[in-house]
Amino acid sequence: MILKELIKGNEKFREVDFPALEDELKDLVEYGQKPELLFISCSDSRITPDLVLGSKPGDMFILRNVGNFVPPYKHDEDFHGSAAAIEYAVAVLKVKHIIVCGHSYCGACQSLYEDIPDTKSLIHVKTWLKLGEKAKQKTLKNKKFNTKEEMYRETEKNSIRFQLENLLTYPDVNKLLNTKELKIHGWYYDIKSAKIDYYDSQDDTFKPLSEYTYE
Ligand SMILES: [Zn+2]
Repeated sequence: MILKELIKGNEKFREVDFPALEDELKDLVEYGQKPELLFISCSDSRITPDLVLGSKPGDMFILRNVGNFVPPYKHDEDFHGSAAAIEYAVAVLKVKHIIVCGHSYCGACQSLYEDIPDTKSLIHVKTWLKLGEKAKQKTLKNKKFNTKEEMYRETEKNSIRFQLENLLTYPDVNKLLNTKELKIHGWYYDIKSAKIDYYDSQDDTFKPLSEYTYE
């Protein structure tokens, strides 16, 4: 029973790991959080950012949504949760980096190729998935694939390219990129191997994160 496991898990965490973090957390409470990074990842339950990156409380401001999509900047009276998280991270927390982290076997990217029924139960999902449409179009235009799985992997990577583009529609992101106070990165996480590739915009390819060079 999952709830029972979670309750046990919290007990174990408080006994084993928490003591080493306690002082740091007290400081984070007293002086506030100052994460240097906004991490945008999928809601997929198999994605565990802190676990695979070894990050600690206070390191990363994390936005998770279906497909790790970045909605384009749009000011109206609707409730834009993802946009609010991006704005807050940039304008208030003043993060230095934004990472859009896509992943293999992403259900959101795969469902771009499936018919989503027009029912009230999925009305928001259907609209939200439009944010992956450009990735699908680019994928279909550029290549012939041997298997559907290959096509999905390519779609997942193309989506990262377009989500990074959408980040540029946020005025503050654009401004801070120009003054080099902010950097944006595209990462691709492979669930089966836990390996991460990064997007190199210089030659428009994904490369192992171990080859990333710091400027
Ligand atoms: Zn996903």
